Amino acid sequence: MSDIKYKVVVGLEIHVHLCTRTKMFCSCALEYGAQANSRVCPVCLGMPGSLPVMNKKAYEYAVMAGMALNCEIARFTKWDRKNYYYPDLPKNYQISQYDLPLALNGFIEIPLESGQTKRIRIRRAHLEEDAGKNLHVGNFSQVDLNRAGTPLLEIVTEPDMNSAAEVRLLATELQRIVRYLGVSEADMQKGHMRFEPNVNLTVTKNGKEYKTPIVEVKNLNSFRALDRSIEYEIRRQLDDFLESGRVMEMGNKSTRGWDDANQVTVLQREKEEAHDYRYFPEPDLVPVEIGEQWLEDIQSRICELPLKKQMRFVSEYGLSDYDAGVLTADRATAELFDEAVKLGADPKRACNIITQDYQRIANERRCTITELITADRIAEQSQMLVLGDISSTASATISQLVTESPDLSLHEIAVKHNLIQKSDTAELERIVEQVLSENAAAVEDVKSGGKKSGKARGFLLGQVMQKTKGQANPKVVSEILGRKLG
Ligand code: ZN
Ligand code: MN
Repeated sequence: MSDIKYKVVVGLEIHVHLCTRTKMFCSCALEYGAQANSRVCPVCLGMPGSLPVMNKKAYEYAVMAGMALNCEIARFTKWDRKNYYYPDLPKNYQISQYDLPLALNGFIEIPLESGQTKRIRIRRAHLEEDAGKNLHVGNFSQVDLNRAGTPLLEIVTEPDMNSAAEVRLLATELQRIVRYLGVSEADMQKGHMRFEPNVNLTVTKNGKEYKTPIVEVKNLNSFRALDRSIEYEIRRQLDDFLESGRVMEMGNKSTRGWDDANQVTVLQREKEEAHDYRYFPEPDLVPVEIGEQWLEDIQSRICELPLKKQMRFVSEYGLSDYDAGVLTADRATAELFDEAVKLGADPKRACNIITQDYQRIANERRCTITELITADRIAEQSQMLVLGDISSTASATISQLVTESPDLSLHEIAVKHNLIQKSDTAELERIVEQVLSENAAAVEDVKSGGKKSGKARGFLLGQVMQKTKGQANPKVVSEILGRKLG
């Protein structure tokens, strides 16, 4: 076989539902799971004579996302009609932004496994409306228009990703950003985020470089489908190139769909160009002009973004990149942790308490961590661990008890359930003396310094723990034993 190398090139289009109360151009409620066609009006049904009115909140959410993606925000935008026929689109056109998107030329930093970041450029982001949903039942199709008119932010990246893993990281980071901003729930199961990767390969064969035709995979609604469809396209395009030698030419871009049952992509259309949509300016809506004051106002509502927070937790609190990533996956949890540390919690211990104990309890009870525990209580719990008042086993027990005893302090809970560790040196010293006098043989073994020494020391420690019903602070006991036995 000849000498072949290849590089994967992927750009991504992402559609994100914005979580406004009402739709993009009418006052119908956005409600997932409502009875079919119960959240509709003449505007979103596309009735003749009805007029759209822009949802200002949706525009602000989109601008906010554009700012978080480091984009230039357009001071002037207009709306355009993208014309096509499909049963889920009763107007026969979608209102979108064609040549004047509201955000341009940004970037997103994605956290790589190595702890480094990679910058992926954002070409543009614009606002449009979603279509309804076709349901296929037996031999018939039905259409539910509750979703028609949902504000949809379309984000287009440059082809800067070079593996399925990088695409996945970008998708996850974007999900984290829009959730932090509060502009989308970004719930994959509810179709709040949909992906369309553009995939092709740069193949080097016998020192010469070829590009395979670009394929756009349409409408992927899970991270898994995104990942698998890209992996599949990489293999398919490489095989196709080796068999047919087909390379990229003008107009041989194609779109494919993902067949989840068979885990393959399927050809849909050979080519599709902007002029097929006959874009023209929407005559029923006025253009949007956004002034300095309005921009500043939106900017001021942007919180600390997840990656920045994650990196701050590493640099400021000395957490590992992994721990910081777990804590910042969700904004409320990250803020709870941050506040606990500001109230005096030891960062590493607070991180363990939150991500291990309370996360597990929250999962069991199907609630959020912030519903279970407050920052000051986490600070108190971590302090008790630092001071040796409780062991880590006792701490886990306290985590269980604390949610049921809102009126007691953690210390009171620990006392009530006999979880306070004995660190009183005088008292422990007395118990150690007693254990040593009762176990002369073990004491001899330790002092001999031979093979049995370590084991005998462990035995003596165990005896002390037993006498104190496990409540002695093992660290203090070890120190006393060390002092007495040399
Ligand atoms: Zn409506
Ligand atoms: Mn779109």
